[in-house]
Amino acid sequence: LSDRPVPSLASLFLRPALVLLAGVIGYLALVAVPRQVDWTVSESTREFGRLGNILAQEITRLGVAGTLVQSDAIDRFVARTGIGEIYVLRADGRMVATTASALRDASISDLAPLIGEGAALRAATNRCGSDVEFVAGRIAVGCWAIVLRPIDGTTDGRGVLIMRDDLSWIIEGARAQRINEALGGVGLLLIFMGILIVLAIRHVLAPVAGLGRQMEVVAAGVGEVRPLTTGAREIRSLADGLASMVSTLREREGQLTAILDTAIDGIIAIDSNGTIVQANEACRALVGWAPEDLVGQDVAMLMPPSAAGMHAHNLSTYLRTGKAGIIGKGREVIARRRDGSDIIIWLAIAEMRIGQQRMFTGTLRDVTADRLREFELHRIAHRDPILGLFNQRSWTIEIQALFDQSGGGLPDCFFLLVIVRNLDDLTVTFGDVEATVLAGVNARIEAVLGGVEMAARVDRTRLAYLIQGNGDGPTPEQQVTLNATFDAPIDVNGLSVAVEASLVVIPRIKDFADSTIAAGAVQAAFSWATETEFDRALPVLVYDEKVGTTIRERTRIAQELPGALNSGRIHPVYQPQISLRGGGVRGVETLVRWQRADGTPVSPAIFIPVAERAGFVRDVDRAVLETSVTALADGTLHLGADGILSVNASVKELGTRCFIDEVQATLERHGIAPARLEIEVTETAVTGSLSAVADILRGLRSLGVRVAIDDFGAGYASISYLKDLPADVLKIDRLFIADLASDTRARAIVETVIALGHDLGMEIIAEGVETAEVARILTEMGCDIAQGYFFARPMGTDALRKFVAGRLEALANV
Ligand code: C2E
Ligand code: CA
Ligand code: CA
Repeated sequence: LSDRPVPSLASLFLRPALVLLAGVIGYLALVAVPRQVDWTVSESTREFGRLGNILAQEITRLGVAGTLVQSDAIDRFVARTGIGEIYVLRADGRMVATTASALRDASISDLAPLIGEGAALRAATNRCGSDVEFVAGRIAVGCWAIVLRPIDGTTDGRGVLIMRDDLSWIIEGARAQRINEALGGVGLLLIFMGILIVLAIRHVLAPVAGLGRQMEVVAAGVGEVRPLTTGAREIRSLADGLASMVSTLREREGQLTAILDTAIDGIIAIDSNGTIVQANEACRALVGWAPEDLVGQDVAMLMPPSAAGMHAHNLSTYLRTGKAGIIGKGREVIARRRDGSDIIIWLAIAEMRIGQQRMFTGTLRDVTADRLREFELHRIAHRDPILGLFNQRSWTIEIQALFDQSGGGLPDCFFLLVIVRNLDDLTVTFGDVEATVLAGVNARIEAVLGGVEMAARVDRTRLAYLIQGNGDGPTPEQQVTLNATFDAPIDVNGLSVAVEASLVVIPRIKDFADSTIAAGAVQAAFSWATETEFDRALPVLVYDEKVGTTIRERTRIAQELPGALNSGRIHPVYQPQISLRGGGVRGVETLVRWQRADGTPVSPAIFIPVAERAGFVRDVDRAVLETSVTALADGTLHLGADGILSVNASVKELGTRCFIDEVQATLERHGIAPARLEIEVTETAVTGSLSAVADILRGLRSLGVRVAIDDFGAGYASISYLKDLPADVLKIDRLFIADLASDTRARAIVETVIALGHDLGMEIIAEGVETAEVARILTEMGCDIAQGYFFARPMGTDALRKFVAGRLEALANV
C-alpha cells in the first residue's frame, strides 16, 4: 500500500464551484449591474426632464408673479415630485422663488457652483431646453424657459426654471437593488451549491476521506478499519470491501507473521539494495537482534567484514548479470551475531519479484552445534582422546594415503614403534596417570628424534611414529640416543617415574610395495618386540624381514594345526633312553612330529611354541599322550614290563588340575601302571610359576607318575631351586652335554648337578649324547641314563622294535 497522501477529492468539487461563483459575481459586478444602473439613471433623467417641462408649463400657466415667490406652488410641486432644489429666476437673473431659502437673493452666477458652469451659462443666455446635465456624475441639473407675470412694465416676463436634484440615491438604489437582485440569485445559487457541497461532503468527500484514512491505516499497519456508516452506496460497498479485504489481509498477514515467527529458522527478506525489509522472531535467538531492529538495516550487519564485501559484490553481480552464486542453492556461511561472535549458518536464498521490485528471502539455520559435533565426532573417530594423536584407524588411513601419493614405498622414512611396557604398573601404582605418562613419552620421543611426520597411538600402550629424514633408519648417533631415551625418568605430576619401553625401528619403508605390507610389518614388529622384550640388552630393536617371515610362518602354522591334528598328520616318534649302568633301554621319550600334506616336516621346536601361543598345545599333548600310552599298552613300543614312557607336557597343561585327571584316566583306561609314565616339564616352566606348577607336579607324583625336569641348566634356574622341585628325574640340557669332552667348565657343572640330583634322590638323564666319548664320560660321572643320536634318533615304532631287539641281542651277547 502506498503511503502517498490520498488525493483530496474536496478540491475536485470545491475548486470548480468557487470558480463558477467568482465568475457569476464578476459577471454581475462588471456587466449586469452597471447596465442596470445606466438604465435606471436614464429613466430618472427622462423623468427629471419631464417633471421640469411640467413645472415650467405650470409656472407659466399659473402666471407666477415676477417678484413674488409663490413658494406654495413650488413647495407643493416639490412635495409632489420630490425634486430637491428649484430655482425660478427672471430674465435679468434675479431670483423669483427658490426652495433653498439661503439662496433667495442669489443670482445665476451665484448658482454656478451648484448647477455647473454650463447650465449657469445656458440659463443666463436663456438657451434652455429639456436637456439634463449632471454635475459630479450624480446631480441632475436642468433649466427650462418660463414666462412670469410681469410685475412692472420693465420686465418682459421671461424667466428661467432651474431644477437640481441629487440622483445619488436613485443610482445607488438602482445599484443596490440590482445587486440585491443579483445577490438574491447568487444566494440561491450559494444555498444550492452549499447543499450540493454538504451532500458531496456527506456522501462523497467524507466517505472518500474515510476510505483514505482507512487506506492510511492499512498502509501504516496500525489502527482499526471500520465499516463506513455513510456514503454513496458504491463508496460504502467499496469501503466495506476494503474493510473486509483489509481484515482478511490482516488475518493473513497475522497468520503469515505467526508462521514466520514460529519457524525455527531465521527468515530475512532484503530488497535489491541489501536492506532488510522483513525479519522473523527466530532471528532474535539466531543473531541476537530483534526483528524490528533488523528491518531497515543493511544485511551486511549480519556478516563478518570479509563476507560483507563479498556479499555486496555478489548481489550487484547477480542483479547485473543474473549469475547466481548462492541463490536457489544454499550453503554454509559465517554469520556475525550482535555480540560480535560468529556462528555457522546454513543459508538458503530465494528470489521474489513483487511488481517491479526484486526481493530476496534468506532462510538461516544455525548449524554451529552440528558442525562442532561433527568436528568432535571426527576427532573422536580419528584422534586418540588422551594425546590427540592419530588413532589406529587414521594411522592406517594416513599411511595408506602417503603410499598412494608416493606411488609406492615412502622414501627417506622410517617407522619408530614404542611400547610402554609398564603403563599398567604405573597406573596401578600412581593412579590415573595414563595420559600424563603417555604425553611424557610422546614428548620425549619427539625431542629425541625430530622430523616426526606423523604420530599415532595405535593401542593403549603402543605409539607409532613416521620419521622423515633417513630411509635407512636412525643414524648410529641417533640409535645411541634412542636407546637412552627412557634412561632418565619422566616427570608425572611432580613425580619422577621410570618408563619401561620397548622401541622398534622399521627402516627402509621404501622397500614395502604397498601400505598393507607396511602395516603388516608394523604389526609384526610390535609382536616381535613384545615377544623379545625381556631378551634384549637394549630397548631398541631393529626390525628386519626375517621377523616378518617368522611371524608369517608362525601364523600359518597356527592356521594349519587344528586341521593337521584332526587328519592325523601329527603323530609321535620315540627316542630311546639308555641306562648307562646296564646299557639296556630304560624307556623312550615321545617326540611329536608333523608332516605337512606335501611331505615337508615341521619341527616341534617351531610349532609347539606356536601351539602354546594359539592354545592348541593341550590338544597336541593329549593326542601324543593317548597315542603313545596306547602304543605302550598294546606292546607296539616293545618295551619291557618296566619300560618307561616319557611324555613332554607344555607349561600350559600345568596350569590346570584337570591335567592330572586326564593323565589318570588315560592310564586307567589302558591299564598302565602310573610308575611307567614320566611327565617331562621344562625347567623354565617350573621356575616361571613355581608354586602353581609344583602343586600339579605333586599331584602327578601322588598318582604315582614320575616327574622329570627337562632342559635343566638351559634356563637361569638356581641350583638352589632343585630342593624345592617335586621331581624324580633331572634331564641335563644338551648344551652342557655336547661339549662335555672338551669343556672342563661344562664337565664341572654336570658333575655338580649329578651329585646334587643324586643327593636329592633324583635320577639323572643326559640329553644330546652324540658321541661314545661323551657317553663314557657321563658313565664315569655316575649319570644314570643317556639319550642322544649316539644311541638312537627319534624313530617310528617299526624302527623302535628293531632297535630294542638289537639292543637286547647286544646285551645278551655281552
Ligand atoms: P626336548 O624335550 O628337549 O626333546 C629333545 C629334543 O632333542 C628333540 O628334538 C630331539 O630330536 C633332540 N635330540 C635328541 N638327541 C639329540 C642329539 O644327540 N643331538 C641333538 N642336537 N638333538 C637331539 P625335537 O624332536 O625337535 O623336539 C624339540 C622339542 O620339542 C622338545 O625338546 C620338546 O621340548 C618339544 N616337544 C617335542 N615333542 C613334544 C610333545 O609331544 N609335547 C610337548 N609339549 N613338547 C614336545
Ligand atoms: Ca623332552
Ligand atoms: Ca630336553
